[in-house]
Amino acid sequence: MQKIPLIDYVGNPLLACIFLAIFWLQWRFPLRRQQFGLLQRLARNFVLSIPGFAIVRVAMLPIPIAIAIWARERHIGLLNWLHLPTWAVVITTFFVIDYAYWWWHWAMHMVPVFWRFHNVHHTDLDLDVSTAARFHFGEMILSIGFLSLAVILFGIGPIMLVVFFITFEAATLFHHSNWRLQIHIERILNLIFVTPRMHGIHHSIVQRETNSNWGTIFCWWDKLHGTLRRDVPQDAVTIGVAAYREEHELTLGKLFALPFRGQREWRLPNGEIPDREPQAAENLAE
Ligand SMILES: [Zn+2]
Repeated sequence: MQKIPLIDYVGNPLLACIFLAIFWLQWRFPLRRQQFGLLQRLARNFVLSIPGFAIVRVAMLPIPIAIAIWARERHIGLLNWLHLPTWAVVITTFFVIDYAYWWWHWAMHMVPVFWRFHNVHHTDLDLDVSTAARFHFGEMILSIGFLSLAVILFGIGPIMLVVFFITFEAATLFHHSNWRLQIHIERILNLIFVTPRMHGIHHSIVQRETNSNWGTIFCWWDKLHGTLRRDVPQDAVTIGVAAYREEHELTLGKLFALPFRGQREWRLPNGEIPDREPQAAENLAE
């Protein structure tokens, strides 16, 4: 396997440190009360993430990087046409790919065949930094096409692609975490970024709440599309997918097989559809 120094020597060690730091912070300052056994969840999320990590490293990054080099040589894509100064290239890269990912995440929920894979991520019955690694490897394979297309369209350079990827993964670790930031600090951060309370609402068993807050780094895209929800306090959120509530149905083998099985309707096992009146909240609820 060809080395990607920026990932192998900088990105991965940095992300491992961020993971450990957030893991400690969420243990020291927990946000939501955890409902299920931590060790078992950690073990499942870790094992489930291994094929996904492997695919990211052997294909999901190398293929778009090769395409980025090819596009630069051929002068293809927006940023290869514009000749902007470096600072403007950095800002544009972050904005356009994060926005493209907003649409990708939307498609993950709205396109039934994509949801089969993304469902595995959402079936976690608690939400913490380990959920950030819990992706079915099929979702990684699907995203190779998406990321390659984004790189060609926007003419993203290979270095900027890797820098963006590292930041994107750090943001994913942060907003999945169960770290209780002081509410006034989180409200300030949430003027720009997706934060743990905001993303916690996206993992609710209430479908209207899941179908909101699709952003990864910046919260503006949800504001732009009217899908930003800040109205639900974290102690009112039940994490997970309504139809998949039993731990024994979410074992590793069943999770790997989940995309290839019949998908259940969004209903609790007792047949009820979980719901809650939306509130007109301007501020992020505590
Ligand atoms: Zn999602």
